[in-house]
Amino acid sequence: MELIKRKRQKLKLKFIILLIFVLLGGSIVFKDFVSSQSYTGSESETQERLKSDNQEASPTILIDPGHGGEDPGSIGFSEILEKDLTLETSKILFEKLKEAGVDVKLTREDDRYVSLDERVDLVETYNADALISIHFDSFPDDRSVGGFTTFYQHKFQKGLGKSINNSLNQSLTLRDRGLKSGDLKVIREIDIPGVLLELGYISNPQEESLIHSEEFKQDVSTAIFNGIMSYLNKR
Ligand SMILES: [Zn+2]
Repeated sequence: MELIKRKRQKLKLKFIILLIFVLLGGSIVFKDFVSSQSYTGSESETQERLKSDNQEASPTILIDPGHGGEDPGSIGFSEILEKDLTLETSKILFEKLKEAGVDVKLTREDDRYVSLDERVDLVETYNADALISIHFDSFPDDRSVGGFTTFYQHKFQKGLGKSINNSLNQSLTLRDRGLKSGDLKVIREIDIPGVLLELGYISNPQEESLIHSEEFKQDVSTAIFNGIMSYLNKR
């Protein structure tokens, strides 16, 4: 009887010791799990911070291909549509900025109608730091009229305009019609640097065929790109 009791007590003791070990081991594993969890947490927080730092370093550029959809814009001498040229040129500029690591957005990516109000609203939606509106001019009454013009509206937009206009002047063979203050809704109703570029006259037969060429689209996009970058570097 006594012997059995002792054996039972021994067994009980062994069980308790085992239980302590299991609990201790378990708590160590649990602690490791918790600390690895919190480590992952702080790591992702750091990444998040870096991301926002990068976003501050790389401003968002919103490119606005003029017209689209039911609004063809100007119609060229050989009936090329302004809305197609603005989209093609904007997409090339988009790629150049993207390749340079700039955060870049478009107000339209295909042939669709986007109202001026919607274009202005997109500045806020994307929290854009600068807007570049791409257009081509037309003056059918006198088909000899040609050249490019850079429009800004507010004083705080002039620096960007100057930088892009200088770059266009250096790269293009077209006549430089200058940097002008124009009353244009898409740049008037925004509170960030923004310009509207009229990149030649499609009513002028020579300019229309030049503007339509792949070489011009590349050259003009590179010139705008350089103008944007030199403006951003000077800020
Ligand atoms: Zn236009």
